[in-house]
Amino acid sequence: MAAEITPWRATVLTLFPEMFPGPLGISLAGRALAAGLWALEARDIRDSATDRHRSVDDTPAGGGPGMVLRADVLAAAIDAADAAADRPRLLMSPRGRPLTQSRVQELAAGPGPLIVCGRFEGVDQRVIEARRLEEVSIGDYVLSGGEIAALAVIDACVRLLPGVMGKLVSGADESFSEGLLEYPQYTRPQEFEGRPIPEILTSGDHARVAAWRKAEAEALTRARRPDLWAQRQVRTGPGQKHPKNTTEG
Ligand code: SAH
Repeated sequence: MAAEITPWRATVLTLFPEMFPGPLGISLAGRALAAGLWALEARDIRDSATDRHRSVDDTPAGGGPGMVLRADVLAAAIDAADAAADRPRLLMSPRGRPLTQSRVQELAAGPGPLIVCGRFEGVDQRVIEARRLEEVSIGDYVLSGGEIAALAVIDACVRLLPGVMGKLVSGADESFSEGLLEYPQYTRPQEFEGRPIPEILTSGDHARVAAWRKAEAEALTRARRPDLWAQRQVRTGPGQKHPKNTTEG
């Protein structure tokens, strides 16, 4: 029998493996999981504890509140997960580099990451260094654990995998795909509480629709995400055709 192609795979190290697949077992991601288009392995960090009480955490060196995940236990859990060298090893962490759609695209294109979920006050710094964990944040706020963050990372990747969403993911049009937020969407009814669908969208003129969507996406991005807009200006040049020039002129 021909060797099967290993599907994209996420391995999650957590103290709460019962939180997986959780919401990823539902809808398109769940159907794709059941169909073997991707795989998920949730491993209990506590299985790598060695003492009688199966303890995984201890008080912070130097004092302070809370508990810290032990380096030795977590390292053993990572080693036991036997992540192939080419798999990214992520540590969910509010100190990490904020997750972006382009990092998601890279992760989705690879074999799939190993993801460590912190708990308590976080993890011992030495395991981050010794196991070369890439700290990834899902935003500037603090969750009680890395599990919900890991679910977010995996969800963002899985929807990009071939066959998971079919044509639903039109990579070119989505928010962030070109450094722009997405244009506004409308569907029936034609009129809602006195608000009609913008006339251009029902004109059937594809070129005008495309131009309108681009202009809306640019205006939204400028207004809501000046940081994204500035990056885009750097990439595309302070340029022609951007609404900036028309409004400033
Ligand atoms: N004391 C830490 C916060 C620990 S929160 C600090 O101030 O940095 C507990 C765990 O939740 C973290 O180890 C991490 O795995 C996860 N977590 C919390 N907020 C997160 C975020 N914004 N992004 C990713 N993971 C997060």
